Amino acid sequence: MASVGAVIPPLKDRPMKGVIYLFDVDETLTPARLHASPEMLTLLSTIRQRVAIGYVGGSDLSKQQEQLGTPSIPVQSLFDYCFPENGLTAFRMGVPLESANFISWLGEEKYKKFVRFCLRYIADLADEIPIVRGTFIEFRNGMVNVSPVGRNASTEERKEFTKFDDEHHVREKFVKALREEFPDFGLTYSIGGQISFDVFPTGWDKTYCLRHVENDQNLPDGVDYHEIHFFGDKTSKGGNDYEIYEDSRTIGHNVKGPEDTMAQLKEIFKL
Ligand SMILES: [Mg+2]
Repeated sequence: MASVGAVIPPLKDRPMKGVIYLFDVDETLTPARLHASPEMLTLLSTIRQRVAIGYVGGSDLSKQQEQLGTPSIPVQSLFDYCFPENGLTAFRMGVPLESANFISWLGEEKYKKFVRFCLRYIADLADEIPIVRGTFIEFRNGMVNVSPVGRNASTEERKEFTKFDDEHHVREKFVKALREEFPDFGLTYSIGGQISFDVFPTGWDKTYCLRHVENDQNLPDGVDYHEIHFFGDKTSKGGNDYEIYEDSRTIGHNVKGPEDTMAQLKEIFKL
């Protein structure tokens, strides 16, 4: 991965100035929850010589550091733009941009009501579902992740829950109950992965990061991005890439996995 350390031209001096390539993380740059391949990182650093690159993922920065960085290479040095939590936290050339926060948006009182309802609901579920572990609610900066079985579940236990959920629609019913209980909270629910669902303010999906891209031109040294590409695997309705993939500001590319992402990039950049 010698090229990862190669000198990166400033954003305003990239040969394809004003063009940015944005990528989803899981199943687009990396296998689900796992690390990106050296080939992928090398390819990204190659195209970075020509265009601006960024990733946008639902998890937080530490998870993406695990998946995309190495102990000696911070993920912020591998991408021009890092958008953890869909861009609610953001980095441009390693420098943090303005961030947004779920609780300050919703308010402490409403948040408490919401959490109380979830914990009661999960407590009642415990009789019904085959296993319960721990960490049922994970608070992230821009969203809340709710898991009826608990995020501590092992790989095997996750599979077991998924099977149960496919039959009994535990998550679907949970989301329905939340929608009915808090119709005026302005929240969006997204069932993804094996064991949980995300809750975030409506509009705080992956399109959120586009405000940083659009605002770039207002920064000192900023770039006016007129061509925004997005690559993602969950681009159909209900998937967590759907909104940004369909957004009129982006050119969407659907991928079947990291191998396919590499194949498409090689094709586009004639590598
Ligand atoms: Mg994905």
